Amino acid sequence: MNLKNLVIFGALLAIVLTAYFYGWHRGDAGKPADLTSAAHAGAPMVSPVKPRARDFYAPNSEKLAPDEIRVIACGTGMPTPRPAQAAACFLMELGNGEKFIFDIGAGSTERLFALQIPTAFLDKVFIGHLHGDHFGDVGALFVAGGIAGRFSPLRIWGPSGATPELGTKAAIEAMEKMYAWDLAGRLGQTDVRGFRTEVHEFDYRKEQVVYQENGVTIRAWPAIHAIDGSVSYSLEWNGLKIVFGSDTYPNKWFVKHAKNADLAIHECFITVPDLVAKYRLTPEAALQVGTQIHTAPEAFGKVMSMVKPRHAVAYHFFKDTDTTGPVLERVRKTYDGPLSLAEDYMVWNVSKDGIRERMAVVDEHSWNPPLAYPAEPVSPKDRVGYSPEIEGGRLDVRDVIEPIYQEASDAVGREFKYPTND
Ligand SMILES: [Zn+2]
Ligand SMILES: [Zn+2]
Repeated sequence: MNLKNLVIFGALLAIVLTAYFYGWHRGDAGKPADLTSAAHAGAPMVSPVKPRARDFYAPNSEKLAPDEIRVIACGTGMPTPRPAQAAACFLMELGNGEKFIFDIGAGSTERLFALQIPTAFLDKVFIGHLHGDHFGDVGALFVAGGIAGRFSPLRIWGPSGATPELGTKAAIEAMEKMYAWDLAGRLGQTDVRGFRTEVHEFDYRKEQVVYQENGVTIRAWPAIHAIDGSVSYSLEWNGLKIVFGSDTYPNKWFVKHAKNADLAIHECFITVPDLVAKYRLTPEAALQVGTQIHTAPEAFGKVMSMVKPRHAVAYHFFKDTDTTGPVLERVRKTYDGPLSLAEDYMVWNVSKDGIRERMAVVDEHSWNPPLAYPAEPVSPKDRVGYSPEIEGGRLDVRDVIEPIYQEASDAVGREFKYPTND
């Protein structure tokens, strides 16, 4: 073989080998790579018009399995208000239909209502401590729930305080007194059976069962936060355990009771540098609040490394693009397990098979949720009415209002009489 033939032979060999490695051996030589899904094993085209599984949770679109708990963050923020994050509130929905609210921080009622759950089922609230960012919306839930279909008392569990006036009972009694005018103005107008509370105050110093009904056990134990009178909770049902810390400095009781938790929710405060730069605290206050009153991210990680839950949830910081990294970085110094950095409308479906984290997508223009059962008729005799002085200020607009009564009578098919004093 002369040199010329050797070059030709070598070139041909190179072409054959290249062709072989690029597909001849698979029998699809020369075809361009087809990456469309239809090309795979004859699978049908995905329809652009038929419904298919979502990657988010749309309220009231999914059935809970009998052995499943859905936890929804309805408040994950800080004591100061912001549209993106209400203050502390976590809703736990059980496969048996029971629903439990843990903390009811300022702004959270709006989130609960956006989930469109009949308010008759939003009647059990467990308060971890009496800071406004953990119970500041109890009045909003009391009133709005009572208007929108909870025709039974709002049931509230919460800790005692070092003195009676620092306890949950005193706080809720004061709240009811605050709404004296609100209630008086509704008497004889609408069904007000929901404008009552049923308060279960328990000793904050004890590790104890505070609720046991329908297979659900809720325990409370002491927390260390601000002053005496903070607690944390666990909910156990059907072999699942969800733990909610409310606010606390890292403590031995949480580590003990959160053991074997499927979902362990614990506060994780904003970093000290951000407390100074963005929350506008002095360095002294930032160190005190961010590391001594609350749980700093590094300490959150340390607690979770001791608990080793199936899944850890950190909340209680303003979650922005520039704050999330520093919080995560500090948590990861001390904890490398499964973790969610919570934000409002984050959802966890918890079962023995797994824990799925998603976001809920809600209708910001939501109306009242459907009624679980109808309102009772009321008697106009119960109305408080006006003094003659105020009554005497009415303009005569009967000519435009009376047709509305006629319109309603025609629509409903029974007569609604225009109200007169005689
Ligand atoms: Zn607090
Ligand atoms: Zn707090």
